[in-house]
Amino acid sequence: MNTKMELLKKGLLKKGIRPTYIRLKVLDYLETNRNHPTAEAIYKSLVKEIPTISRTSVYNTLNFFHEKELINILFITGIEARFDSNISPHHHFLCGKCGRIIDLDIECNYFKKGNIRGHRIIELHGYFKGICKDCLKEGK
Ligand SMILES: [Zn+2]
Ligand SMILES: [Zn+2]
Repeated sequence: MNTKMELLKKGLLKKGIRPTYIRLKVLDYLETNRNHPTAEAIYKSLVKEIPTISRTSVYNTLNFFHEKELINILFITGIEARFDSNISPHHHFLCGKCGRIIDLDIECNYFKKGNIRGHRIIELHGYFKGICKDCLKEGK
């Protein structure tokens, strides 16, 4: 096992999660591909390397990670769940042309305040939609 996998393994163990092979592979995929992939994209990539892997096990692993607060699920597109291993609070920008979901590193004062009009904030997801700078450049 390479060093990266060892680190992922240690991270899971620290959270009291048994580092099974599939869990490590799914987590590794999410850490390497920071483009907010769908479960289907993760499955299609992993099945090339692990022909015995099932769709269900990938979906179950993702749900399990979400339960354990290791990953976030984004519903920005409205039609499919996208997965994000970056769990620090950040907003997202969806490009209507190329479909990419880009992390927006912008400050939100409400998050620091911890509440809004007396309601306690636990999670905060800002969804921005438009045309990304690359698509604007290409004049698509
Ligand atoms: Zn774009
Ligand atoms: Zn993100």
